[in-house]
Amino acid sequence: MGVDIVPRKVCTFDCVYCQLGKTSLKTIRRFRSLDRRRFERALVAALARSPKPECVTIAGSGEPTLSRDIGTCIRIIKKHTRLPVVLITNASLFYRSEAVEQVTEADSIIPSLDAASERAFRRVNRPHKGIGLDAVIKGLIELRRRFSGKIFLEVMLVKGVNDSVRDAERLAAVIPRIRPDKVQLTFPERSPRRRELSPSPLAVRRFAGVLKGTVPRVEIVGLSLHPRKEIRSRRDEDAAPQIISLLKRRPATFEDLEEATGLPVARLARLLRDISKKYILERRSGYFRIIPGRAT
Ligand code: SF4
Repeated sequence: MGVDIVPRKVCTFDCVYCQLGKTSLKTIRRFRSLDRRRFERALVAALARSPKPECVTIAGSGEPTLSRDIGTCIRIIKKHTRLPVVLITNASLFYRSEAVEQVTEADSIIPSLDAASERAFRRVNRPHKGIGLDAVIKGLIELRRRFSGKIFLEVMLVKGVNDSVRDAERLAAVIPRIRPDKVQLTFPERSPRRRELSPSPLAVRRFAGVLKGTVPRVEIVGLSLHPRKEIRSRRDEDAAPQIISLLKRRPATFEDLEEATGLPVARLARLLRDISKKYILERRSGYFRIIPGRAT
């Protein structure tokens, strides 16, 4: 189950691979974002109607540690469920002691570190000018020192930018200081528009080979998975509930839906038409969402 606590695309970065589009507000200024009572009510309702989630993931449509309420958010989730709380973050604000302090009650954290050279970091993540790579790495080291849960470090590889052997060697020199439990290599393969940013499987395996030995586990996420192939053979009756559930939880563009389902364009468009006969399907500024109630 996903929890989103910052407005859409308010982020410290504007990553070249971001599936949410361009950052609308690039900032390093942390802010209050939570109406505690409303959040608690919405959470309780979502937990009651969610069919057995595996965990509660704080991520969403911007950088969640920009919210000064992130600690409160984790505490409220833990008050209402025993599910593990997972935080997905770009790790850019952990150089600030209070940001680390506020996330220590999470069960696991998936921070990203896409590059260990300033040049590649700037090209891939396009950070706010107030953020340097050194601060990000120091923040991750501090996070490890103070956080006792699992840390799964995510590295997103972009073709020709941070996927070379030299890039891997630089990361291999830094990662042992961060001591993550696992490194997950991933790449922007799943959406058609971003697939051109993906390195070749050979480059990904070569990269993983350099990192192996620096951490207990290096995992390549998605290389052996080809969801498009698998889902194309699925029946519409199986794909429709996935789309409905997604659009009830959060707005999504057509491309987000293509990426989530792996369906070809024509089939996805037909399914959306069918869904709109039973549900109130709103489309605003390119985002689809399902509004509670039934279409008449
Ligand atoms: S950190 Fe995440 S939300 Fe922010 S720009 Fe990068 S991918 Fe998008």
